[in-house]
Amino acid sequence: MGIGYSCPVPGRYGLLVSYTSAQLSACALAIAAAGRKLGAQGLTPATSSNFSMRLDTAHAAITISGCDKDTLTPDDVMVIDMDGRAVGTSARPSAETLLHTQIYHHYADANAVLHTHSRTQTVASRLFATTGVVRLEGYELLKAIAGHTTHTACIDVPVFPNTQDMPELVARVEAWIQTDKPLYGYLIDGHGIYTWGRDMAEAERHIEAFEFLLGCELDLLLLNKTRSSV
Ligand SMILES: [Zn+2]
Repeated sequence: MGIGYSCPVPGRYGLLVSYTSAQLSACALAIAAAGRKLGAQGLTPATSSNFSMRLDTAHAAITISGCDKDTLTPDDVMVIDMDGRAVGTSARPSAETLLHTQIYHHYADANAVLHTHSRTQTVASRLFATTGVVRLEGYELLKAIAGHTTHTACIDVPVFPNTQDMPELVARVEAWIQTDKPLYGYLIDGHGIYTWGRDMAEAERHIEAFEFLLGCELDLLLLNKTRSSV
C-alpha cells in the first residue's frame, strides 16, 4: 500500500506510533471495502467523499485526495497525524482531513469516520439549511444509531453552511460540539454528510441509516407538497 509509516514526523503528540503494520493494513482494507460498498450505493459521485480510521492516539489512516471511491484499494489510503499532516508519504490527504481529526479529538470512542456526497444528503442539506437542523423522530431505523433503543428517539442532525475555508468549517462544527448537544452526524449545505462509529461496521450502519432517514424526510416533503397542490 502507498503508506509508509516507517518514518513518522513528530507532532504535538510526539512519536507515539503504537499501531502495527498489520493494523494499518487491516484499516486500509476496511476503508477500501467501505469505499467500494458506499460507492456502489451511489453515495460517492465524481471522486467525492472520504473515509478514515483511527490507528492510535496520534495517527489515522485516510483516503488519498481525488481517488475514485468505486474502485478504492488499500493503495489509496495513507497515514496522517492528528493535526492532519501526511506521515511517511508525499501523498496528499483529503482536503477535509481536519473534519476527521476533529471527530477523533472530541469523541474517544470514534474509530471510523465516513463522509459522503449522495444526492439525498445534498438535497436534504439544501432544504434544511435555513433551519440549520434536520429533526429525525418516530422512525424505527433510529435504533440503528448507537445508543438508541426506540423509535420514540429524537435525533437532531445539524446543517452547517459550506465553505472552502476548512478552519472556518471546523469552527462551525466545534461550536455545536461545545454546546454538549448530542452529535451523531452532520450535514454541510449543498455538500454531504459526516458520521462516525466505534468501528467501520458501526460507521457504515450510521451512514446508511442517515441516508435512508433523510430520504424519508424528502419523500414526506414531496408528498405533502403534491397533496396540498391538488
Ligand atoms: Zn466533501
